[in-house]
Amino acid sequence: MDVRIHPLNTGFIRLDKGAYITPGDGYGMEVEVPTWAFYITNGKDKFLVDTGMSETKTADWHHKGSYQPEGFRIDERLEKLGVQPKDINAVFFTHLHWDHCSNMKLFTNARFFVHAKELAFARDPHLLYHKSYESEKLGVVPPFQGVEFQTVDGEFAYNDYITLFPTPGHCPGHQSVAVKTAQGLYVIAGDAVFADENLKPDKHRNLLFTPMGRYVNVFDMFDSMEKIVTRADQILTGHGMSVSFKPDYP
Ligand SMILES: [Zn+2]
Repeated sequence: MDVRIHPLNTGFIRLDKGAYITPGDGYGMEVEVPTWAFYITNGKDKFLVDTGMSETKTADWHHKGSYQPEGFRIDERLEKLGVQPKDINAVFFTHLHWDHCSNMKLFTNARFFVHAKELAFARDPHLLYHKSYESEKLGVVPPFQGVEFQTVDGEFAYNDYITLFPTPGHCPGHQSVAVKTAQGLYVIAGDAVFADENLKPDKHRNLLFTPMGRYVNVFDMFDSMEKIVTRADQILTGHGMSVSFKPDYP
């Protein structure tokens, strides 16, 4: 069977468009965005990219008004595809913000891949990012507490169709996942390309894409977006509506 990518919507986050998505355009405009994880299979191997967001109470604590509808938890999403958490062989994390790694401990047989820099930062985040990583310093338990990871550093070909590559900027150790399919190279960008608006050309500055509003390093963010746009035939964003246009890809 050919390689297929199934997007799994794990819930909705409310945020300020001008602050997060398109700086300079839409400040004060609250929008609701889906939160994607992805299931990849060739019929035999079973992988995830990210495990999605938390239940509503925690989500609302992060961003007021955010919620996880019933049946949207990662394992419930997989169940609809006939996949059990114990069947997952590996999870490739784009990064360890709360909305990308909640419920990861459900995957008892999986190896967890993360960039070394991301793991180090997540375990001891800057004060400004305590909440994003659900730091113990806030008296909560991070989703990755006590979990054993396989760290990668730089580009890493996992097998003949999945390659992880660094795309820092949104956070220090962000990475994206390139998936070779029968119809070209898909890049699961994670939050290195946040939403659909970011894939549109920035006409004012004559750019092929629209830089995002949320990052730890603006130059890395820009370079990573450029890298993804150059490399990919198709891009699947971390929080874009258009990911939902098809039940699976290609
Ligand atoms: Zn996110």
